[in-house]
Amino acid sequence: MQLSSDAVILRVWPVNEADLIVSFLTRDFGKLKGVAKSALKSRRRFGGTLEIMTEVRATFVDRPRQELVRIDHFDLIASPLRSPVDYARMTTLSFFAEVTEQALPDRNPEEVTFRLLSAVLDHCARGQIWLPVTYFSLWMTRLMGWLPDLNLCAVCSSSLLDSGAWFHPSADGLRCRSHAMPASASLALESLQLARRMIRAPIAEFAAQPWTAQSAADLRRFSIQALERHLERRLRTAEALRRLATGAVSSAELRS
Ligand SMILES: [Zn+2]
Repeated sequence: MQLSSDAVILRVWPVNEADLIVSFLTRDFGKLKGVAKSALKSRRRFGGTLEIMTEVRATFVDRPRQELVRIDHFDLIASPLRSPVDYARMTTLSFFAEVTEQALPDRNPEEVTFRLLSAVLDHCARGQIWLPVTYFSLWMTRLMGWLPDLNLCAVCSSSLLDSGAWFHPSADGLRCRSHAMPASASLALESLQLARRMIRAPIAEFAAQPWTAQSAADLRRFSIQALERHLERRLRTAEALRRLATGAVSSAELRS
């Protein structure tokens, strides 16, 4: 059956001579993997659409009992290459792609995830990095069901509304000061309040305030740690983001 849907490209890798396997998140059918036959030769069917985080209209054939769909063609809607791609932006786009690819199961329609990705890509295209990364990390944690209660200590249920909280890479939940585990990281009161606002409001509401690598860095760390713990793996691109935030990026990486 031939189907089509708006989609975002997550990952592309070669197979056989000239074919590619493409992992892409569709608005209507969830995350899919498909074969793009002769994609390396056919600019007409795929020209300019195979970079990660490209937004396309995907036309493909889904066959019974086949894990992979057969991709007929992608029509370009928006390319991340429409604005200059420097190291920081490339790292951000790769982070969105890696988290989405790793966290979502195949063929599980979740339009809200698609809309989240579209929204953060839009802000990224305007040159923002740290707001979309922070918003995306928190929301992906929430959409996957991995976000703990932001109001109560996970141990004693005391209120966290007037204090900061503590978290640890090996444990779920936020904790009050008395129950913080040794070597916990802290989440400042204002970051916790920001998190509560972010899960109720669209990203655009936070774009007016200035964002730097230091803005809500603790909230980003908390969300990414929750993602990594539930995925049971380190995110390669999260490490790149950490290095970007601390300025520990070599000049060779900045040139690439
Ligand atoms: Zn407690």
